[in-house]
Amino acid sequence: QAFLRFDLAALLERVGSGKESLSFMRRRMRRLAMQWAAAARRLDEHLRSQYREQKRILIHVGFLTEESGDVFSPKVLKGGPLGEMVQWADILTTLHVLGHNLKISLSVKELQGCHIRVIDTFGTEPAYNHEEYATLHGYRTNWGYWNLNCKQYMTMFPHTPDNSFMGFVTEELNETERLNIQRDKANNIAVVYGKEASMWKLQGTEKLLTILHRYMDIHGTVYYETQRPPEVPAFVRNHGLLPQQELQQLLRKAKLFMGLGFPYEGPAPLEAIANGCVFLQPKFNPARSSQNHEFFRGKPTSREVSSQHPYAEHYIGKPHVITADFNNSEEFEAAVREILNVKVEPLIPFEYTCEGMLERVNAYIQNQDFCQQSRPFPAVNESRSWPGNPPSPFVQLSNSTDLIWAPNISAPACWPPLRALRLFLSPEASSCVKTCQDAGFICEPAFFPFINNMEALSGLNARCESLEAEKNHVFPAVQVERRECFVQKDPLLFSCAGFSAKHQRLCPCRDFLQGQVALCRDCL
Ligand code: UDP
Repeated sequence: QAFLRFDLAALLERVGSGKESLSFMRRRMRRLAMQWAAAARRLDEHLRSQYREQKRILIHVGFLTEESGDVFSPKVLKGGPLGEMVQWADILTTLHVLGHNLKISLSVKELQGCHIRVIDTFGTEPAYNHEEYATLHGYRTNWGYWNLNCKQYMTMFPHTPDNSFMGFVTEELNETERLNIQRDKANNIAVVYGKEASMWKLQGTEKLLTILHRYMDIHGTVYYETQRPPEVPAFVRNHGLLPQQELQQLLRKAKLFMGLGFPYEGPAPLEAIANGCVFLQPKFNPARSSQNHEFFRGKPTSREVSSQHPYAEHYIGKPHVITADFNNSEEFEAAVREILNVKVEPLIPFEYTCEGMLERVNAYIQNQDFCQQSRPFPAVNESRSWPGNPPSPFVQLSNSTDLIWAPNISAPACWPPLRALRLFLSPEASSCVKTCQDAGFICEPAFFPFINNMEALSGLNARCESLEAEKNHVFPAVQVERRECFVQKDPLLFSCAGFSAKHQRLCPCRDFLQGQVALCRDCL
C-alpha cells in the first residue's frame, strides 16, 4: 500500500548533488518542502485512507544522462533552459510524496524493460507516433514514432488531450507573503522575461522597451560573464541570472512581466502571475507551428502556437495576461497603459499547485492502464454501403441543440467513465481539440473506440451514402461533399489533434474539473 509522505529528506538524499542540474533540483525541492507537505495533508483528507497500491517506479532522467551528452547541466548557471529541471524536480517530488517506491536512474545502463511514460515537453500527436503511418504520410520526425499509446507521453502544459498533461508546480504564497505583496507592489516596475542575451535580439525589442521605459523602470535577469550583454539596452537594470528565490522576490515587487517572444511555454510566466504580475506577451500572427517555424520544425506535433505562452493566453487570460500585437506600437502602448490602471491579485491555476499535481498524477497512477490493448469496437467491413437505420445506442440529451448526445448503453468499464461522453460533429477543417473546447468541453481520446461506428454518426445526422473503414488520423469523420462516412481502422490513430479541410470529424468530448482540465467531474 502507498502512504503519503510529508517529508522530503529521503528523496533529497537520493537525488544527490553531483551536477549543477541536480543541485538546482534539490534547492527547489527544499524550498517547496513545506508547500508539498501542506498539499499532502489536504490530499490525505480527500483520499480518506483509500487503498492505493504502491508502485515500483523507475525514473530515468534521460536528458541528464552522460549517454545523451547532458547538454543541460553546464547551462544551469548560464541562462540555459531551466523549465525541464523545474518539471523533473516536481515529478520526482510528486511520486515520492504519493508514497511510491522510486528508483532514480541517470544512466542508460540502469534502464531495464519496463512500462514507460515519456516526459515530453511539447507533446506527440497520434499521426507522428504511429511509425508506419508517419513514414507513409510525411509525419516522421526525429522524435516519436514509437507506437505508444499517446497518453504515455506526458506534457508540460495541457496541449492536446491525446497526451497526458503532467505539468509542474508554481510556488504558492502564504498569508503573510500575500499581505507583503499588497504592501510592496510598485506600480512602475517591469521585469523582462529572457535570461539569455539572444532572447533580447528579436526584431523590434529595443523600440518596445523604449516605449515601456516611458512608463516604468525595467529590470532584467540576463546571464553575463564579465560584461553587460550589448543586446540589453542601457536603461534596463540587469541583475544577471538570479537564483529562483531572488527572482520570486523581484516579481513580488513588479507589476508587469514582459515576454519578448522566446522562450516558448516556460514556467516563468506562471511564477510571475502567481506573484501578482500581469504578463504581457506577443501574439503570433500567423500562428507558429512545425510547418512554418524553425523552433517547432521536427517536433512531433502540428499544434499551432498563437502566442509566446498559449496556456497563459487561453486558460488564464485577462486581467492577468494580455496578449498583444507587438508589431503595432500603439496597441503595445495601450496594453502597457491598461496594465498600469488594472489591479490584479496573485493567481495560480489549481492544476499548477502542489495539491493539483498530486491529485492529477495520483489519478493517472491509479487509473491509466496501457497494458490492456485498445478496447474492441464494432467490426466494420472494409467497404460497406450503408442503407437502413441501425438502432442507435445514443440518446439526445438537450433539446436546445441537436448536437449534444450521450451514450444510451450500460457503460463498460472505462476511465474516464463513459457517462461523461458528449458527442459532437466538428465543422470542416477543425480538430476535435477545438470543437470540444468551443462547446465548453474537452476532447477525450479514451472514448474514440465507443463512437467509432455508424450509430454514432447517424445519431448526429451525418448524411452519408457509404461507410468505409480506413487508417487516417482524422477518422471517424464525414467527407461532406461526397457524402461518405469513414470509421477508423487502426485504434493507434485515434486523434483529438487531427483536422482536415474536407472532413467533419466525429468528436468525443467530456466535462472537466474547473482548474484541473485533465480530470472529469467523476474521474476522482
Ligand atoms: N529562472 C531563474 N532565474 C532567472 C530567470 C529564471 O531561476 O533569473 C527560473 C524561473 O524561476 C523558472 C525557470 O528559470 O522556473 C525556467 O524559466 P523559463 O520560463 O525561462 O523556461 P525555460 O525556457 O528555461 O525552460
